[in-house]
Amino acid sequence: MKWPTVNTQIFLGAVFGVAIGLYFHGLESDSTIVKVGLYSSGLVGGLFIDLLKMILIPLVFTSIAVGIANLQAHKQVHRVWTTTLAFFAFTVAIAILLGMTANQIFRPGDGLDLEMFAGAMQSFETKQLGLAEFIAQFLHGLFVNPFAALAQGNVLAVVIFATFVGIALVIGGERYRNILTLLQELNEIIMQMVKWIMYLAPLGIMALLIKLVATQDMALFGNLGKFMAVVLGTALLHGIVILPLILYLITKVTPLKFFKGAKEALVTALATSSSSATLPVTMRCTEHNLHVRRDVAGFVVPLGATVNMDGTALYEAAAALFVANLVGIDLSLTQQLIVFFTSMIAAIGAPGIPSAGMVTMVMVLQSVGLPAEAIAILLPIDRLLDTVRTAVNVEGDMVGSLVVQKLVER
Ligand code: ASP
Repeated sequence: MKWPTVNTQIFLGAVFGVAIGLYFHGLESDSTIVKVGLYSSGLVGGLFIDLLKMILIPLVFTSIAVGIANLQAHKQVHRVWTTTLAFFAFTVAIAILLGMTANQIFRPGDGLDLEMFAGAMQSFETKQLGLAEFIAQFLHGLFVNPFAALAQGNVLAVVIFATFVGIALVIGGERYRNILTLLQELNEIIMQMVKWIMYLAPLGIMALLIKLVATQDMALFGNLGKFMAVVLGTALLHGIVILPLILYLITKVTPLKFFKGAKEALVTALATSSSSATLPVTMRCTEHNLHVRRDVAGFVVPLGATVNMDGTALYEAAAALFVANLVGIDLSLTQQLIVFFTSMIAAIGAPGIPSAGMVTMVMVLQSVGLPAEAIAILLPIDRLLDTVRTAVNVEGDMVGSLVVQKLVER
C-alpha cells in the first residue's frame, strides 16, 4: 500500500481528532482515559505549536527583508505595496458588510434576555480601552527595538523593522550583496525546517482538535446558537464564495485548485486558532502549492498574518450589533459606520494569536457606548468561533498573494 501524502495525513489527523474529542466528551471527565488523553493531547499539540513558533520570527524577518530586496530587482516594490494594502482593505470591508448585514437580517439577539447572562457579566472585569488609546498603543507598538521585538516574538514590529532592512538593502545595492545572500540562505534553511515540521503536522493537529472538542462546553450553544450560526454562516460565505470568487475573477485560479493547495494551512489555522502560528505553513502552501513567487509571498503573507483579518473583522462587527440587539439599543447609521471602522481597526490591531479578537472587541463595543462587560457572554463560545475566523483570516492572505502577484505582473 502507498503511504498517504502529508496532505492526506493532515486531513485524517483532523477527522480522527474531532472523532476522538467527541468520544472523550461523552465520557466522565475524571475518568483515567480522559485525563491521560487530555494530558497527552495537550502536550503533543503544545509541542507542535512550540515548533511553529520557534521558526516564526526568523521566518518573518528573512522573508520580508529578502522579499522586498528582490522585488526591487523587478522594479515592483511600490506596486506590490499599494496593491497589497488595497486588496486587504477591500476584502476586509466586504467581510464587515457581510457580518453586519446578516446580523441585521437575522437579529440573533432578539428573544434573548440579558438577565440570563447576569451571572457571567457580574464576575467579569474588563480593561477599559478606548479608541484613541488603542490607536496610540498600536502606533507605539510599530517601532520597537528590533532585538526586543525578535526576542519577544512581536510579529508586527519585526515586520516593520524587516521592511526597513529590505529597503536599505535595495538602496545599498551591490554594497550589501553579502548580507542579502546571507539572509537569502537563512530563509532557505528555515523553509527546510518548515518542511520537517510539516511531517509532524498530522499528529499535532489531531492532538489540538481532540483537546478543543473534548473540552468545549456544548450547553452554552443553546442560548447563543443563533448568533453562532450567523457568524459561522457569514464567515463561511466569505471564505467559500466571496474570496474564491474574487480570486477567480482576477487570476482565473479555480476554487478547487486553490483549496487543494491551501488545505494544509487552513486545517492548521482551524486547529491552532492562530494566524501567527500557522504562518510557516501558510508560506509553504503559498509558495509550493499555489506557486506564488517567493518575493511576493514573502511580503504579502507575513504582513497579512498580522494586519489582514477578514474573519476577525466580520466577527467583531457582527458581535457588536448582536450585543446592541441584546441590550435593546438600536444603533443609528452613524453608530453603525463607527462599528464598521472600529472593527476594521480592531482587526488590523489584533495580533494573530488565539482569542486576540476578544481583546480588541472591547474597543469596538465602547466606541458606540455598548457595555464592555458583554465580552463575558461572548468569551465562552470564542474557542469555537475563533477556529473558523482564523481559517478565513489565513485564507485571505493566501488569496491576497495570488491576486497581488497577478495584478503586479500586468
Ligand atoms: N485568532 C485569530 C487569528 O490568529 C485572531 C482573532 O480573531 O482572535 O487570526
